[in-house]
Amino acid sequence: MSEIVARIGLAVMLLPITALVWTIASYAFIYNGNWPPSAMSVVSVWVFVYAFVATYWICLWKNVVKWTESRIRRSWVVTALALFAGVVGCSCFTIFLKQSLAEAMLGIGQIVPVCWILGTIIVWKETPLERIERLNLYNRRSVCCPACQYNMTGLSETRCPECGKSFTIDELFVAQQDQQLDLEDRQQDLE
Ligand SMILES: [Zn+2]
Repeated sequence: MSEIVARIGLAVMLLPITALVWTIASYAFIYNGNWPPSAMSVVSVWVFVYAFVATYWICLWKNVVKWTESRIRRSWVVTALALFAGVVGCSCFTIFLKQSLAEAMLGIGQIVPVCWILGTIIVWKETPLERIERLNLYNRRSVCCPACQYNMTGLSETRCPECGKSFTIDELFVAQQDQQLDLEDRQQDLE
């Protein structure tokens, strides 16, 4: 299993695992004989669940996302907006549906992690420029034909399918090092 497939699998698992955490937290904080629950006990459940979701999601993507200053700032904005959505949702439930604060929070509290996850997906996504930089890095690790520069990465033979020339493995190896030096020279010239 490649790393990205494992990450996607873990991302999909967030929903059932969070449901489990929510159930455990509910039994711990709410279903202790008191009904209706106090607002404080519902807040405790959500704080617990929000902390879990945030930790899980950040751990899952922290090594993939490029943490620029602007991205970190926008992540905080997303967090604030998600909490704001929770406040608005609770207000609507109490005002329009005439529910108690505890019931409102119980009914609409999941809006915060849902908004937060959606927001982070948008903010943490690679920009076109970052994608180009990543592909450049990948190209520098690729194997090119010393004669015609055809990208030979992934081939199982050392004959270039583009120009037909054959090389030994050591010839290819030396040529890649030379190309890397050329690239670095050109980069230095540009800077
Ligand atoms: Zn070639």
